[in-house]
Amino acid sequence: RLEIRNVTRRYDGRLVVHDVSLQVLPGQVMCLLGPSGCGKSTTLRMIAGVEMQDAGEIHVDGKLICDTIFRVPPERRRIGLMFQDFALFPHLSVAENVAFGLNGPKRARRARVVELLERVHLAHHIDAYPHELSGGEQQRVALARALAPRPRIMLMDEPFSGLDNRLRDGIRDETLDILREEDTAVLLVTHEPEEAMRMADQIALMRDGRIVQQGAPYNVYNAPLDRSAMAFFSEIN
Ligand code: ATP
Ligand code: MG
Repeated sequence: RLEIRNVTRRYDGRLVVHDVSLQVLPGQVMCLLGPSGCGKSTTLRMIAGVEMQDAGEIHVDGKLICDTIFRVPPERRRIGLMFQDFALFPHLSVAENVAFGLNGPKRARRARVVELLERVHLAHHIDAYPHELSGGEQQRVALARALAPRPRIMLMDEPFSGLDNRLRDGIRDETLDILREEDTAVLLVTHEPEEAMRMADQIALMRDGRIVQQGAPYNVYNAPLDRSAMAFFSEIN
């Protein structure tokens, strides 16, 4: 379970994330939506621990992982990342990429790698290198890599935006199935209202660094609280 409480971040005195609180339950997907520059990626970076907040607390499964004094390092947060620009390591094979964050005996690591590659239908490419794979295949390897250490939280920042429509639907559904099965709490940033309606259990609308509305997709869609929420969903037919 991911819980962020009253998190705030300033750049040069300007509030880019302002008193944001969110909760994502295990096995659930929360979509964070909002216009460019509203603070979505900054929020995710603070949760990942690659950026510090100026105020507020972040908890994973009820344990404090950071406030303004205390801070668990990123690699010990049990948080998986899937960002659009978070590329595979080009000099490592598919198997080595997926095994990257794994510890423990070699045999157990190998078994986990094989299991995940089977689930993303890439077991036959286990010894390939990233440049030998298509964009969609690389994205599936990135997914397997992010899932390998069994993260409790998965942060996804427009992870499907580089893919063509047909490929995207397939990978999106596959990704969700795996995350739900592993009972991972997912925070997904997207620009696309349709993607949110399709994937989310909860939607949070962000504007100018604040959460302006939050709820089940159906409710947010049917009862937008303000003009910007309305405008956002008017793109859907
Ligand atoms: P997009 O949808 O375009 O990805 P976003 O909602 O992810 O937008 P952020 O990347 O979180 O937006 O940026 C929020 C604001 O903070 C923007 O105005 C951006 O210019 C500013 N910002 C982000 N990173 C920095 C930084 N390192 N230094 C100064 N300002 C920054
Ligand atoms: Mg962003």
